[in-house]
Amino acid sequence: MAKSSYTPPQFLTDLLAARSPSGDEFETQAVFDQYVGPAADIYRKDALGNRLATLNPEGDPVLMLAEHLDELGLIITYVNEQGFLYFNTIGGHDKIMIPGHRVIIRTTAGSIKGITGKRAIHLMNPEDCKRVPEIHEMWIDIGAKSKSDALQRVSIGDTATYDHEFELLHGTIGTARAFDNKAGAYIVGETIIRLARAKKKPAAQVVAVGTAQEEIGVRGATTSSYAIDPHIAIAVDVGHATESS
Ligand SMILES: [Zn+2]
Repeated sequence: MAKSSYTPPQFLTDLLAARSPSGDEFETQAVFDQYVGPAADIYRKDALGNRLATLNPEGDPVLMLAEHLDELGLIITYVNEQGFLYFNTIGGHDKIMIPGHRVIIRTTAGSIKGITGKRAIHLMNPEDCKRVPEIHEMWIDIGAKSKSDALQRVSIGDTATYDHEFELLHGTIGTARAFDNKAGAYIVGETIIRLARAKKKPAAQVVAVGTAQEEIGVRGATTSSYAIDPHIAIAVDVGHATESS
């Protein structure tokens, strides 16, 4: 029987619902702006897309809390004559995990759904069955009849993310696409929100940063670290449960 119902924080679920493949991160940035912006004494956005929320700007030392707002994604690179969409990866994917998922493609006309596919097992030889397909051997099927039909719905350069929304397992265990790093965004953002509400202000200047483009080279973390030049920095990201029981 499920445990008693649990309502997760709205800030976290809004972050998880926002789609933010690296370089196309405006949905998650908007959520961070909405929740963290009003709590900060100074709230800045830089050219790369980093969000910098400063509390107690005269404080000393300078403490930087960093997390990234982007997530893994796919980017459409080619459409074949049959209307299947070929793609490249945004960020470091495990290729074996790509086929067989529903995806949401964000287009200029709104979001459309598709399914990632590869050659069916019935059509594979024994050697093919043993290997992981290459990126060019996978596609997204949006149910288009032809190339021109597909290109009326999507454009080259549109991005896609998996259609795995937030759900609770067994009452209290959260599952969703991109907990990496919406969990970090929530923790860092919520820290600023709670510090801003606290009666006793910290002696330190605290700068919470929602960094851009982490999955493709830790880009925003690098530039924002130079911008802030902190005495102490803590990066919050996901890790692996490697402890033995
Ligand atoms: Zn991460």
